[in-house]
This record gives sequence, structure tokens and C-alpha cells, in this order.
Amino acid sequence: MITRFAPSPTGPLHLGHAYSAILAHDMAMVEGGDFLLRIEDIDQSRARPEWEAHIYEDLEWLGLWWPKPVMRQSERLDAYQERLQNLWKRQYLFRCTCSRRDVQEAASAPQEGTAPLIGPDGIIYPGTCRENRSFAIGPALPTDAALRLWMDRAATMAGEIHENGKVISFTETGHGPNGETGLIEFTAEEVIETIGDVVLARRDMGTSYHLSVVLDDAAQGITHVVRGEDLFEATKIHVILQRLFRLPTPTYHHHRLIRDGNGKRLAKRDDARALSKYRSDGATPNDIRRLVGLPAA
Ligand code: GLU
Ligand code: ZN
Repeated sequence: MITRFAPSPTGPLHLGHAYSAILAHDMAMVEGGDFLLRIEDIDQSRARPEWEAHIYEDLEWLGLWWPKPVMRQSERLDAYQERLQNLWKRQYLFRCTCSRRDVQEAASAPQEGTAPLIGPDGIIYPGTCRENRSFAIGPALPTDAALRLWMDRAATMAGEIHENGKVISFTETGHGPNGETGLIEFTAEEVIETIGDVVLARRDMGTSYHLSVVLDDAAQGITHVVRGEDLFEATKIHVILQRLFRLPTPTYHHHRLIRDGNGKRLAKRDDARALSKYRSDGATPNDIRRLVGLPAA
């Protein structure tokens, strides 16, 4: 078993991160496996070396160990480009020049007054640029616009090459936000409707969370992806990308989110709940384990 913890160095780690990291670590240790760390720093406008240093410090303090050197997404941009180029050639991508506002306006236009449909990536893309696309634009991967996955083609292909015929699936050993567990099956139609044409390469980054996470989990040989249940729906995007790239689908283990006293999920900006704060207040790593409901080390 190979698990991982994949934080973004954009703020302090809090109790929710500790829960995710310890769970992934302990799951691997029980099986005699490996726990890996990956720094998800593709958003260079928000990632800071100080936060990366704090991540190592906090995780070491918690008593976790991982092989070095760690994978850093900012060093993998060539790998992402290569796979994008491949999808572009196979006509699974289209250029999108819409602003956030364009998407919002186009998505609300048909049903004036009703709220646009929201998927795991925000408002479901209404298809403006897909309908205007032109394939007579040459083999070079465009870098002057965002690139979206043409979900209709992608999900249909994923359904066709999947072992179960039209149904696409993955195995969940934790649970989604509505208790989903076991064999999770979904259809191309469902994904086209509830997720849509997600951005695979942002103009300013040349990649996206979805593309990078899929390629990196495969490159690191991750067998069990342990992460918060807020990413359960996004897993469907990841499985479709794995099919398109002929990559294995790991087992997924989504876990509950750690909430504050008012039931609100913890965010990066909740500095009061930063691990380093607990530590300076005298808490021990086993206190942290107890706080998040995990057995002592
Ligand atoms: N960098 C992502 C986050 O911090 C990781 C998501 C994942 O584990 O797939 O939310
Ligand atoms: Zn567009």
C-alpha cells in the first residue's frame, strides 16, 4: 500500500490537515507500506517557501516520516505539458477564453432568474467556446487561453473502454459526503450533466489541480488516495482522466472533515487552529491525535 499527503503550501496546516496526514500515514504503516509527501505548489501566486518549510516541520513534529526528496508539482510542468499535448492532439480539449463573469452570465441566461448549476469545480460550463471551437488551429498546444476538457467526448470514451461497459467506477473504502461507499458507479451522461467541461490547464499555470493530481498519483505509484470528502465528486473527473491516459485507478478513501466548535469546516485562514499554535500552547502529538479522534501512536 502506498498512500500520500498532498498539501498546498499556501498557509498553515491545521487540525484537518493533521487528521488527513496521520490517517494516510497510519494506513500505510499498518500494511507495511509507504507514506509519501507531495507539495502541490502549481499556484505560484499563492505558494510560499515559508509555508513549505512549516509543512515539513509540523509533519515531523507529528512523528510522521516519508522518503526524500519529495515530489513538488512546480518541478513537473513538463510532464503536465506532454500529457496536455497528447489530449489536444486527440481532440479532447478546447480553448476557452471566457472570463469568470462570462461563464456566470452564459450559465444563467437560459433560465433567467434561476441559479446556475454548480458542480465540483463551480458553475457548470455552459459550452460557449466548445460550440465555437475550430479544429483548424494546428497541432501546437495553445498557451494563450485556458484549456477545457470536452467532457462529452471524454466521459463517453471513458465509459466505452471501461471494463463494465458503459458504467464507470472506482472503489471507495471511506465515504463520500452522503455516505457513498464500496463500488461507486457513474455514467458518462451523469458526469456531462453534473460536472461538465472542467478546466485542465489554466492560462496562468499551464495545468490544473485535476490534471496534476492524476498524473502525480500515478507517477508516485499511489495505491490508496486518502483525502477529505469534499473531493469525492471530483474523483469522477480523476477516474475519467485515468481512463484517457490508460493509467490505473487507485482505491479512494475519503474521510470526514474536521470542523470547528460551530460545525464550520476549518480553512487555511483559521490561524487559531494552526498546528503550530497547539504546539506552542504545549500540546503533544498524541493530544493532536486525540483531538481528531485517532488512536495514540
Ligand atoms: N492540494 C490539495 C489540497 O490541499 C490535495 C487534494 C488531494 O489530496 O487530492 O486540497
Ligand atoms: Zn469559454
